[in-house]
Amino acid sequence: MSDIAIRAEELTKSFRGVHAVAGVDLEVPAGSLVGLIGPNGSGKTTTLNLLGGAIRPDSGSIAVRGDRVSGRSSAAFVKAGISRTFQNPRVFSTLTALENLLVPVLHSRGGRATLRAKAEALLEFVGLAAHRDTAASELSGGQQKLLEFVRALMTDPRIVLMDEPFAGVHPSVKVLMRERIAERNESGTAFIIVSHEIPDLTRLCSTVVCMAAGKVIAAGTPDAVIGHPEVVEAYLGHGPASRGERG
Ligand code: ADP
Ligand code: MG
Repeated sequence: MSDIAIRAEELTKSFRGVHAVAGVDLEVPAGSLVGLIGPNGSGKTTTLNLLGGAIRPDSGSIAVRGDRVSGRSSAAFVKAGISRTFQNPRVFSTLTALENLLVPVLHSRGGRATLRAKAEALLEFVGLAAHRDTAASELSGGQQKLLEFVRALMTDPRIVLMDEPFAGVHPSVKVLMRERIAERNESGTAFIIVSHEIPDLTRLCSTVVCMAAGKVIAAGTPDAVIGHPEVVEAYLGHGPASRGERG
């Protein structure tokens, strides 16, 4: 058994000539929390889609705890312990909050009462217990994100992929989201989190990876990556030297 939760090697994915992901290597140690940053269009969402099995790479491989999953069905990725959330939450709007949580485990062997108790505990975990029977469409955008987060936990994933969990949510929801992610991470779940909210992200993660134009341009501690000249260049379109010239 590998102590690497997920390892991607030389991943590539193009869309009609656009090299969205152009040779990405990524390694996420078990139980770690990796932040994925980079300017718009740098390939972050495509990378999450590849790692979650939603789309297949043109080339390269993905292994979960040493077992190759790339090329297999998205169900195989779930079975391997990968779960994810989306930039715009994809909740089942006509189902209640509780029913939303039961969807990923519809075909699981767990007893109904056990699954229901687990779902209720997770709703409680993110402050949604009172909304158990509320249709998801009636929840605020932030609450839908919290709901989607705990729905992703119903399958007891080893690694959760999250796309912009802090974007467009009320500051209080942001704090709750951050705390709950940290709690779950402390109990051993690994995360890859894409976020533009760099202060929120760097408070959480031990490692930051920055992409630009489909490639990883820097990886390391948050401070090292944020201050990396290539990262500054990628975000600003000019390096620290030219910033200096501008005075
Ligand atoms: P990010 O999440 O970093 O903003 P994306 O992974 O969404 O970047 O996109 C990377 C590049 O791939 C962009 O140029 C985007 O327009 C392109 N792209 C992403 N998905 C598709 C798609 N389904 N069809 C065509 N082009 C796509
Ligand atoms: Mg994106």
